[in-house]
Amino acid sequence: MKDFKKITLTWIIIILFLIIIIVLYNRMDNQYTEPGEDAPIPSELHPIVEENKVILLDRATDINIDLVITEGMRSFSRQNKLYNQGRSGTGNIVTYAKAGESYHNYGLAIDYALRNSDGKIIWDIHYDGNNNGKADWFEVAQVAKELGFEWGGDFKDFKDYPHLQMTFDLSINQLQRGLRPVIEEADQ
Ligand SMILES: [Zn+2]
Repeated sequence: MKDFKKITLTWIIIILFLIIIIVLYNRMDNQYTEPGEDAPIPSELHPIVEENKVILLDRATDINIDLVITEGMRSFSRQNKLYNQGRSGTGNIVTYAKAGESYHNYGLAIDYALRNSDGKIIWDIHYDGNNNGKADWFEVAQVAKELGFEWGGDFKDFKDYPHLQMTFDLSINQLQRGLRPVIEEADQ
């Protein structure tokens, strides 16, 4: 009888212990399940990026800079094609990002260039088409930064002068896991 009580007590302790472990495990799991996970890949620029792209074009026009947006939303397959360029394919290396590793793949980045007086698209960062003594390229970067873009010319490792992005404090890793920027509805 005494043995039976001991065995029962032991089992109760084991079962309670298991329940505690299961509860703790679920709690931990929830901690890493963030809202927006498994969200689909967007098919166009994020509305806030799109809005600021238009403002940037307007502001450039205001200061007599002929600005061209050469790239925006970029699909995974196009990203891989670009990645292969200069690696398994011909040409120069143009990106260090594979599919899913660029803010372009989530509609959060744009690239720009300039159009010169002959109507040609140029990537000359020293060009001063509006003749104000300042390189147009840097003037655009400055305006873009005021609008909230991060400029690739400020990157430490790999300078990406045409590149502008809005990360909304999300890392590529988080975007790959399915997190997306939250669009806050403004009360108007
Ligand atoms: Zn870019």
